[in-house]
Amino acid sequence: MRAFVIGNAAIDETISVDGLPEPGVSILGRIASRDLGGKGTNQAVVMARGGLATTLVSATGEDFRSATIREQLAEEPVDARLVCLGGVSTDFSMVLTTPDGENSIVTTTEAAEALPLEAALDVLGEAAPGDFLVMQGNLGAKTTEALLRSGGERGMVVAFNPSPLRPYFECLWPFIDIAFLNESESLSLTGRTGRDAAEALHARGIRQAVLTSGTDGAILSTAGGAAIHVPAVKTKAIDTTGAGDTFMGAALASSALRGGALDERAISHAAAASALTVARRGTRRAFPSRDELAEIFAG
Ligand code: ATP
Repeated sequence: MRAFVIGNAAIDETISVDGLPEPGVSILGRIASRDLGGKGTNQAVVMARGGLATTLVSATGEDFRSATIREQLAEEPVDARLVCLGGVSTDFSMVLTTPDGENSIVTTTEAAEALPLEAALDVLGEAAPGDFLVMQGNLGAKTTEALLRSGGERGMVVAFNPSPLRPYFECLWPFIDIAFLNESESLSLTGRTGRDAAEALHARGIRQAVLTSGTDGAILSTAGGAAIHVPAVKTKAIDTTGAGDTFMGAALASSALRGGALDERAISHAAAASALTVARRGTRRAFPSRDELAEIFAG
């Protein structure tokens, strides 16, 4: 089984601040890290480090950030298919982190929105029924819908993380098998959290819903079955950037490597993996290593 992640690649510029700025206020900060990021890339890196054969399709510009993305991805076990586009800026995120591990993130999507549909569809032509198609909200509306639809037509298992929030998500639910939402996404998209949100998602045709809520852990709900709560693993959080991406990547890899559907064990593995990520600063550099994921998945 393989995973195909079609999403963004970005450079995360992380700045440590004492508190998040109020509108109109200038504050001081210090550069904490410059790291490979972008939700699509993050999820692909975690899945690949977990041992699942993973292909990433992403667009970049032709600038210094694009070169950094290539260099860093070359060090990962990801089959990276980067589409280099002239005339667009490579995407980046400004990440503000506070001492208690909170963050605020602004991400540009110029390159992600310019990803040519044909290039992504060409790569999807390599997929077999049962492979994962993993997507997020950074690409353009038409591209996202066409790729999700194509994944379904090819018999792929379609996993979607509706982040960052977009007005066009409402028409995507019919194409999605598994959805991963954090609390704010869940509130915005369903008006509810936890088990109630899962029910609302099942009513829209989602087979499995995973609702994460930081230190309160996560719920896995399967249509027609009982919802399972898995607690977060206690740790000292330093920087929560990428917690949700680690969680999704680890959960999908854990289930795929055991050849089955997403289950309680996969969600426990995801909780352990994301606890490692939040205890370290940065994005890619904070993710669990191959050895750490192998140890987690053995449990
Ligand atoms: P982010 O946007 O920061 O990447 P998110 O908002 O998408 O994360 P969360 O619900 O905050 O996602 O976290 C995902 C999972 O990561 C949680 O279900 C939990 O298992 C783990 N996690 C997050 N924060 C902590 C923490 N402080 N301590 C331990 N585990 C955590």
